[in-house]
Amino acid sequence: MTDSNDAEVQNALDPNPEHLDENDPNVARDPVCGMLVDKRTAQNTMSAPVNDKGVGTLYFCSPDCKALFEANPAQYGYPSL
Ligand SMILES: [Zn+2]
Repeated sequence: MTDSNDAEVQNALDPNPEHLDENDPNVARDPVCGMLVDKRTAQNTMSAPVNDKGVGTLYFCSPDCKALFEANPAQYGYPSL
């Protein structure tokens, strides 16, 4: 048997249609749950000090994660906001 399944593989449903890649500069990681977030469509963001590098933007997957972060930033590695 030498059948090739390449065509079928390409037509398979993609379980992750957004193709988020954490090495993509447009992708950030939610500090609360660890989900990858597309910066271009993120609706839950906030400014926060990023170590000694000044202020950066944090991206959250949902209002719930943002609220959790704001309630206790130290738990996620940001001792002060
Ligand atoms: Zn999240």
